[in-house]
Amino acid sequence: MFPYDGRAIASILGTSLDAVFTIDEQGVIVDVNAAAENMFQWTRSEFLGANISLIVPSPLKEQHDGFLKAFSPDRGVKHVLGSGSRLDGQRKDGSRLPVEVGISAFVQQGKRYFTGFVRDMSERQRAEDRMRFLAAHDNESGLLNYRGLAECCRRPLEGPARVIVFRLEEFRRFSIIYGEAWGTSTLQELARRLGQFLAPAEIAARVREDTFAIVLPTDVAGRVAALAQNLRQPFTQGAMRFPLTATFGISQDGGEFEQLLRSAQWACDRANLSGKGGIHAFTDDLHRSSRRELQIETRLRDAISHGRIALMLQPKVRLVDRHLVGAEALVRWFDPELGTIPPSEFVPIAERLGLVGGITDWVLDQALAEVARCVDPAMTMAVNFSALDFYQPDLLQRIRLALARAEVAPARLVVELTESVAAQDVQLVKARLQEIKALGAGISLDDFGTGYSSLSYLRQFPIDSLKIDIAFVRDLPDSQDAQAIVTAIVSMAGALGLATIAEGIENERQAELLTRLGVTVGQGYLHGRPMPPADFHRLLKAR
Ligand code: C2E
Ligand code: MG
Ligand code: MG
Repeated sequence: MFPYDGRAIASILGTSLDAVFTIDEQGVIVDVNAAAENMFQWTRSEFLGANISLIVPSPLKEQHDGFLKAFSPDRGVKHVLGSGSRLDGQRKDGSRLPVEVGISAFVQQGKRYFTGFVRDMSERQRAEDRMRFLAAHDNESGLLNYRGLAECCRRPLEGPARVIVFRLEEFRRFSIIYGEAWGTSTLQELARRLGQFLAPAEIAARVREDTFAIVLPTDVAGRVAALAQNLRQPFTQGAMRFPLTATFGISQDGGEFEQLLRSAQWACDRANLSGKGGIHAFTDDLHRSSRRELQIETRLRDAISHGRIALMLQPKVRLVDRHLVGAEALVRWFDPELGTIPPSEFVPIAERLGLVGGITDWVLDQALAEVARCVDPAMTMAVNFSALDFYQPDLLQRIRLALARAEVAPARLVVELTESVAAQDVQLVKARLQEIKALGAGISLDDFGTGYSSLSYLRQFPIDSLKIDIAFVRDLPDSQDAQAIVTAIVSMAGALGLATIAEGIENERQAELLTRLGVTVGQGYLHGRPMPPADFHRLLKAR
């Protein structure tokens, strides 16, 4: 029933890829196969009669006899050294190799023997090391990735440390223009510079596409200034030179790694507001605002699904006869804990969280439903769009669907975008606006005069009207400057065939002057505050 005789077994063991050792109770080797000779470099005759600790490196070497003595048949081989686990073996030349060992025990002619099957795990170990390396590193720059950084920093940092984050402002744009190869070679140059800049124990990582983190011991100000100086040197590619702007954020003092990274990123992101290319530390003010933003972030997601955002309508009147010509839809969020949060605060957060498209869709649906209820077919509804809406390829389709759902003619919708949106990606925004225009909707440039619109590109955009920013209206009629600016805007708009709308009209004197200056439409507390839709319809009826 047992098909193997002694010669068959010898031949099977002889061809095994695993090294096979048989030892007696004292650990003396009584048999080895060919693989054992290859794996450990000793010859068969050197092996026979030697102790098995020959292939065991210290400190296990010294304990090996003890393990053998502790063997008891009722506990089986599970407790014999190494059975089933990964450990190190040692070759004749002293070098080590990772091995896995399986052990069986048997008794022959009253004597106990152990046979060990030893598998060389070097290849596997190398593959596993490689995989671990790849999982922790960014394959373009060779720097740690976010995960690798987090792992490094999970070990307690030696002494106090600061996390510094920097973003290469033009990196994403240039990668799109010059291609992946440009990105990879720039990243490698960056990694080289960081390698020269950092001490061996200091860590650098790529945490986002264009954002990097380094971990330094205390007293970082001088180091960061030096790194900023270094990164100001243009990156080169062949004969071309690419100057990049690095914006730095420095974390707060002390704390968990995650918290340090977050505060450094926060400081770096905030730099967007106060100018790119600087070095920004995380301050108490930032701490307060970051806490509030975090609260808003967590609650904003529910707000939309729980119907906590509401729509207000603010009337727009034709200034010459104060006839109501339409409304602007303004979103409101009331949170039971945080109170009323103004759109100027939560819209930018929604943009960051990718929630703004949902808000736009919601407002569009509500606002169009309201304008559908107005009997006057000339009544228009203005809806504010976020910069990010213009980057969505399905924007036009969404507008079209919303109009269809409300059964409203496209001409009754006015898309409001801010000047800063228009300035971001001129070609893209222009293409989107042309689609919207072709659909038949109106387009209005909001907060006009606060941005950097140049006449040359204004002329390229299919805009119908300019909304003169509240900042100029506020100072009327007393400020000569404000009056001059409004006059200039009106005459420029006239030359381009655009209508003008004045925002934030609060009193009769402002309204009179604006009418006299030729502004077409007015909007402000004087003509009506943003109000619930029911109030707006009541106002409409009363007129
Ligand atoms: P905006 O589009 O320029 O809206 C005009 C802002 O001025 C509104 O502030 C309005 O309440 C306020 N306002 C109107 N008349 C007067 C006045 O006589 N005096 C003063 N002092 N203020 C007046 P609100 O509602 O807080 O909105 C602020 C900004 O938030 C808006 O500026 C708009 O850019 C944005 N926003 C509002 N609703 C939405 C929305 O549904 N989607 C998006 N993406 N943004 C929105
Ligand atoms: Mg607006
Ligand atoms: Mg405005």
